Amino acid sequence: QPFPIYLSGPVQRGFGRGGKDLGCPTANLPDESLPAMSTVTQTGVYYGYAQVHDAEEGDNAVLPMVMSLGYNPFYKNKQLTAEIHIMHEFKSDFYGKEMKAVVLGYIRPELDYVSREALIEDIEIDKRIAINSLGRCGYEAYKMDPHFILPK
Ligand code: ADP
Ligand code: MG
Repeated sequence: QPFPIYLSGPVQRGFGRGGKDLGCPTANLPDESLPAMSTVTQTGVYYGYAQVHDAEEGDNAVLPMVMSLGYNPFYKNKQLTAEIHIMHEFKSDFYGKEMKAVVLGYIRPELDYVSREALIEDIEIDKRIAINSLGRCGYEAYKMDPHFILPK
């Protein structure tokens, strides 16, 4: 079993499409953080916990997330990218801030959608699966993982 997988790095700027087109902003991890994902070869949607450092009060908690891992065809080098949607309403953007994540499970492969609506619908299902899985006691403990910076 490859999980848990630990990821961290400053949040990168992408094309700005996730939030505007899909109502689901995804914070992009830097390429340097991705070798940790080499223990899984499958592209697709994963779930786990994430934390943003130096974020505003309440926004720096360890929070449930869904992560999309895939190849961005816009990159000449076809590099793998990881984008994290944190299930929390943030007071402001957090570009450049350090994000830490623990990836705990796989939800589904990357699919080709007939419409934007179909994709949005599937993202909602992904979020429910993540919440349900993380609620199980074996997973909840990762909220307190020493990978995260925890309050004293
Ligand atoms: P980009 O293409 O630059 O990643 P997005 O539309 O995907 O643009 O938005 C991602 C940005 O939105 C993140 O980098 C972060 O600063 C901000 N953001 C606000 N709320 C969230 C959230 N709940 N999860 C992830 N990112 C969020
Ligand atoms: Mg994004």
